[in-house]
Amino acid sequence: MLTAQMKSGTIFSLGTEYKKEMLLIIRKNEEFFCPACGERVSLKLGNQRIFHFAHRSGTVCRDFHESETLYHMKGKLQLYQWLERQGIPAALEFYDSIIKQRPDIVFQYGGNKYALEYQCSPISEDIFIKRTAAYYQQNYIPLWIMGSKHMKAKRKNIFSLSGFDYFFLRKTKDNHLILPSYCPEEQQFKILSSIQHYSIKNALAYVTHYPLQKTVIEEILAPKPTNHFSFAKWTMEMEKFIWNWSLHPNPELNRFLREIYMHNLNLYLLPPEIGLPGSQSLFIQTPPIIWQTYLYLDVLQDKSPNDLIDLRVVERHYNKRIMKTEIINRNMPQLPNVISFNAVKEYFLQLERLGILTNKSETVFQLQTKIFIPKSNREKEERRNEFCQKNKFILASI
Ligand SMILES: [Zn+2]
Repeated sequence: MLTAQMKSGTIFSLGTEYKKEMLLIIRKNEEFFCPACGERVSLKLGNQRIFHFAHRSGTVCRDFHESETLYHMKGKLQLYQWLERQGIPAALEFYDSIIKQRPDIVFQYGGNKYALEYQCSPISEDIFIKRTAAYYQQNYIPLWIMGSKHMKAKRKNIFSLSGFDYFFLRKTKDNHLILPSYCPEEQQFKILSSIQHYSIKNALAYVTHYPLQKTVIEEILAPKPTNHFSFAKWTMEMEKFIWNWSLHPNPELNRFLREIYMHNLNLYLLPPEIGLPGSQSLFIQTPPIIWQTYLYLDVLQDKSPNDLIDLRVVERHYNKRIMKTEIINRNMPQLPNVISFNAVKEYFLQLERLGILTNKSETVFQLQTKIFIPKSNREKEERRNEFCQKNKFILASI
């Protein structure tokens, strides 16, 4: 911890940079107490570690865990001092007695109150959700920043993200989804954007580096959108995923395979219109290839050109799939008001741009062309090349 209470009751914060000699004198003449449990704490002034307070051994504290790592304390301190340098009113380890929580940093910016949590160790999903809900309840905007060392890049632009990692997803002012992280060793933010998951675990994403010294808070709250999306790379990763998936089947896949075979579809011969990425696709945890196949089976397969498709009917089918857990919504505590069906609407609008549907009204689409289902690998390749060629510009702007 970086703050402690003095005998007078005032909080002493190591957020202010003191010289070690100065702190040695203060330590001699002052006693420090934990602001949470009231126990005596010691001011540690080692040469290797960051200056901090620590409970004496044997004390069990409800708020501060001695497992707080150097990495975490360093990051917390750097982020606090970074806000201070920008003239932003901020408090380190501020205790909100109403919600009984102590976010790493509380700060005021642009008329809003933020609770910044710099999270470097795994906590339970329940705690994350409870804390986030309490912040909203007390009119804080939660700002969870992941410790960058937890961001796992499998290879260039491919990240392995767990359900918990996605808890860090935030929406920028212009509605882009980003996943912010900070590394105290490199002293820079690493922000993932254009995140497109093609499987439960893996996503195509782009990381932008923001060195702390050259970055202002606005760039972290509302980073400029980056549009590096490559449909060719997406297709390649999807093919790899389908291949790996079929080699290592699981109950979810088996259920999916049974259903598509019953409808004369083949996992390896799905058309390019099924499994499209989308800016809201992350709202659904289930990979796009699966939920879009289900949509195809439920509302597109039996339709002939000029037939109408009512979005309310689509939504009913979609909800049924959710009830049966064939489609699963993503849990995103920082985006409590998201409606996952918007990802489906977005997909329908993509199909319109691709010439499959026309939008007749707010809730009604009309089928223009049936989605062509390839019968052989050769046919699939030909179809895919033709599709990519014809829709180059549409696919680049997804
Ligand atoms: Zn304590």
